[in-house]
Amino acid sequence: QAKSAGGNSLRFFSSEMQSAVMARVHLEADLHQALQRDELALHYQVQVDGDTHVTGVEALLRWHHPRRGMVSPGVFIPLAESSQLILPIGHWVLQSACRQLARWSESKRTEALTISVNVSSVQFQQADFVAQVERLLDETGARPERLIMEVTESLLMDDPERVRDTMTALSELGIRFGLDDFGTGYSSLNYLKRLPLHQLKIDQSFVHDLLDDPVDAAIVETTITLANSLGLEVTAEGVETAEQHEWLKGRGCHSFQGYFYSRPVPIDELVLGVLPLPLDH
Ligand code: C2E
Ligand code: MG
Ligand code: MG
Ligand code: MG
Repeated sequence: QAKSAGGNSLRFFSSEMQSAVMARVHLEADLHQALQRDELALHYQVQVDGDTHVTGVEALLRWHHPRRGMVSPGVFIPLAESSQLILPIGHWVLQSACRQLARWSESKRTEALTISVNVSSVQFQQADFVAQVERLLDETGARPERLIMEVTESLLMDDPERVRDTMTALSELGIRFGLDDFGTGYSSLNYLKRLPLHQLKIDQSFVHDLLDDPVDAAIVETTITLANSLGLEVTAEGVETAEQHEWLKGRGCHSFQGYFYSRPVPIDELVLGVLPLPLDH
């Protein structure tokens, strides 16, 4: 019985599965080289207030693979996390963001802008993460008040005590935290009470059908109310239409991000100030 099950499971490892595994192995090997070969880039997507005035940007990683072209972060971030490559990559992302903040601090027009950076739980688990961040701030001259670290609910599951200590230490430096993809993970409202959070980001999956799906609408509206009464900033992600913007604004959302305002773009294509939008309807 056991023997035949073994035989079956061997046969079950089909050639398609084998090539999927090999593709992963190849991609991971390529990712090892990506940093040195300068194939990684940060794109920036604006965040706006209710008057479509740009208040900051989210830094989003891009990988220009020499043969495959653009590889989605949805594909390579999990690879980077499982192989620990996220450590040098994440450090590079933070360094690049801090350098950009330091550049922006030199001009009145840009000094108040924030940069949000996605930080993986693997980075958080490093014993010296706080020291690394302190060093980056020192080296670059970036103001910690302008840096927002986006974390996800899954991070908070790892080792809640330790995560809270790390977040507290970083908060004491002046860094602020956003809870990304809010509502998609194993949320516990307890986290909202115990952690030094500044912002909730409503996941784009709830925003997408906001105007057609009463359940999504209820979730979004409740999240906005919750955030406002806890004194947290609430940012709606994935806003694609003027109607979504107006709906969210009308229900007390003050911060917005999505293709409606701008796609993520390279730094030199970033449009700042008050965005000209087709908001008349
Ligand atoms: P995220 O942090 O939730 O980022 C928002 C994602 O939504 C981005 O996808 C962005 O391009 C996309 N997006 C923004 N506005 C719209 C919209 O109006 N409609 C739609 N359909 N999508 C929109 P992207 O750039 O592919 O990144 C995917 C995920 O990869 C990010 O989700 C984040 O979790 C992760 N990621 C990206 N950069 C980094 C990084 O530097 N470090 C880490 N650890 N993760 C990263
Ligand atoms: Mg994010
Ligand atoms: Mg998100
Ligand atoms: Mg996400």
